Amino acid sequence: MDSAPSEIDPKRLFDDELAETFVRACRARDAQDLYIARLAAEFATRNKYDDDGFVSPIDWIRFNCHMTSGAAANSVAVGEALHRMPESVQAVAGGAIGYAHVTTMARTANALGDRFDERALIDQARENSPGKFFFICTHYRHAADAKRYAEEQAEQVQNRRLKLSTTTDGSLLVSGIFDPEGGAVLRTALEPLARKSGAHDDRGRDQRVADAAVELAMHALDLGLIPQQAGQRTHLMVTASLETLRDLPGASAANMELSVPISSKTVERLACDASITRIVLGSDSMVIDVGRAKRVISGPARKALNVRDGQCVWTGCERPATWSSGHHLVHWTHGGTNEQENLVLLCHRHHWMVHEGKWQIVRGEEGRMVTIPPTITFGLPAHGPD
Ligand SMILES: [Zn+2]
Ligand SMILES: [Zn+2]
Repeated sequence: MDSAPSEIDPKRLFDDELAETFVRACRARDAQDLYIARLAAEFATRNKYDDDGFVSPIDWIRFNCHMTSGAAANSVAVGEALHRMPESVQAVAGGAIGYAHVTTMARTANALGDRFDERALIDQARENSPGKFFFICTHYRHAADAKRYAEEQAEQVQNRRLKLSTTTDGSLLVSGIFDPEGGAVLRTALEPLARKSGAHDDRGRDQRVADAAVELAMHALDLGLIPQQAGQRTHLMVTASLETLRDLPGASAANMELSVPISSKTVERLACDASITRIVLGSDSMVIDVGRAKRVISGPARKALNVRDGQCVWTGCERPATWSSGHHLVHWTHGGTNEQENLVLLCHRHHWMVHEGKWQIVRGEEGRMVTIPPTITFGLPAHGPD
């Protein structure tokens, strides 16, 4: 597309000129947006949309002005509120505030009706960024009409939902929305767990948040915080044959409640220090309850391990002992003992990396733990959960 004559190629501008031209263009856009809002509000009072065969003015704007319906509705709402905020309109013309400030101001005016007073906010708009001004207006709305504010928040709670569905390959698909307060509770718990942890953490943010959610759930199960019935603890229920647990060739996968069958590697991890897993071994007609929903490494052995390691032993990882499991360097299904030299503490992720992620952890010189990355297989490097 050809540029308008006034448009200069940004690459030809010196730094100061570029900055000045940039700001000028944004001011012009703000003024233009304000005018568009006035046009939109006026248009909404006429019947032209109906003559043209559209169901609503928003629909007409959406189609003819190439806007999303949200943007079209916003534009009409701002235009309708402008007569109640003359100082804001002036401030946009003078470049003191932007259209983003006006949008927030208009939303506040619409929410408060007669209680809105532009004079209480205009100085704050001049002095603060649009983001900060949004918070100021939110406080102002609460101060002016706490009852209405509470009702709006209650409405947001009504809209909450979290949908869990299973995909054809057995993965869990999650989608939903939380009200601001519920969302804040969730983020307060998940964010610290979702930080990068330990050496070789190449997980993306979304992966870390996913891991954090699973780790949080694991921890709650581990502490017996999830009630079931009559004080009974909830635990992961896994049924495996001894062959599967020992990873023998030809062994079938293990069954896990609410999941597709899981690999012997995963059973091995869950059985490593089974505080939360009840693993039932079915061999012929004999059923042996191995997990018994108790730690395999129990009592004094676990306490000594917690004291010795203090936290996950992975280089740079700081998950405390209470958030870690005991890992058998030689698994107990292969004759490994519960002696201290055969045990180390690993957090949920690093335990996964050792069992399923093909990493190795070995005791090096002076008892320091050394981690060895997986060797490259099938031309692709193996790495953390993904
Ligand atoms: Zn383990
Ligand atoms: Zn760790």
